[in-house]
Amino acid sequence: MAFTQLPVKDLLLENETHCCDGCGPEGVCVKIVSIAELPTRFGDFQIVAFENNKDGKDHIAIVRGDVTDGEDIPVRLHSECLTGDALGSLRCDCRDQLEAALKAIGAMERGIVLYLRQEGRGIGLANKIRAYALQDYGMDTVEANLALGFRDDERDYAVAAHMLMSLKVVSIKLMTNNPRKLNDLQRYGIRVSGRLPHILPPNPHNEFYLRTKAEKSGHMIDLKDFKGKIHLPEQFDRPVVKGMTEEQVKALYE
Ligand SMILES: [Zn+2]
Ligand SMILES: [Zn+2]
Repeated sequence: MAFTQLPVKDLLLENETHCCDGCGPEGVCVKIVSIAELPTRFGDFQIVAFENNKDGKDHIAIVRGDVTDGEDIPVRLHSECLTGDALGSLRCDCRDQLEAALKAIGAMERGIVLYLRQEGRGIGLANKIRAYALQDYGMDTVEANLALGFRDDERDYAVAAHMLMSLKVVSIKLMTNNPRKLNDLQRYGIRVSGRLPHILPPNPHNEFYLRTKAEKSGHMIDLKDFKGKIHLPEQFDRPVVKGMTEEQVKALYE
């Protein structure tokens, strides 16, 4: 099946002269600088490179089909995790989350995975490894959470919103398990027409989620069963694995 493609020339031309006040409290502005084909094991995509006005980080959109002027476009936000995404680390479930999103959108007519370069939720790779080391030495979840730099995701949403606007998407269906997240993008002017649940296929590495229950705080998942250590979620969403009961999913957000 042939699928549609982004209007590459138009997008590049428009972005060449792009100038705006930016999004969010920091006024972040991103600009499309290049678009190329990206065939993957999960399907055929186009990869869109963005530069921003703040820190020179190259954010990426992995795009399926022509999403410009599109309504109800499925969108997944993914925060970069070198250790999980590239190295297959089992300290987090980032790779499972990324693969599930690419597989799902790779099978659709249109969709977008925004790959946000915010390693360790914005604290950087070295600091993330420092936080891991602190956990290895028995730091409790609250301390480790602070060390891992968990914070408001405001900046992530500002970048994501601007990227979606640059791609001229009219409205999106956000792939998330957290109904509350819909408002965050809307705050920056994105029309969110609905939510698609993001459910990971069970595998030997994430099956422990099926057995665990979320702590009352809702900010972290008790994964003491898993390799004897506590693992903190590094993506926007708490992980939901196929086979979880409704109570288990609900408990993640209480
Ligand atoms: Zn801008
Ligand atoms: Zn990770």
